[in-house]
Amino acid sequence: MPTYHYLCERCGHEFEVVQRITDPPRKRCLKCRGPIYRVIHPVGHILKGSGFYRTDYRTDEFKKQEKAETASTTPDKTEKPKKSKDKD
Ligand SMILES: [Zn+2]
Repeated sequence: MPTYHYLCERCGHEFEVVQRITDPPRKRCLKCRGPIYRVIHPVGHILKGSGFYRTDYRTDEFKKQEKAETASTTPDKTEKPKKSKDKD
């Protein structure tokens, strides 16, 4: 099973989760329940001390996605206007 590396946007907590490919991706930080995103890094690369990835651009992208998600979940009103065929 592949190991996925996650980084919390809010508290900076990073952790790894062993998941099946079929499992849904994590979305919340284990510590603060804040939004997290998956860090893609080459196999064998270990995040320790210096050499930390700058992922600010990813953060922006993440926020956009979050917004898009919330927007899509809001029910859109598709009520059709009443036909005014009955004229006085
Ligand atoms: Zn967190």
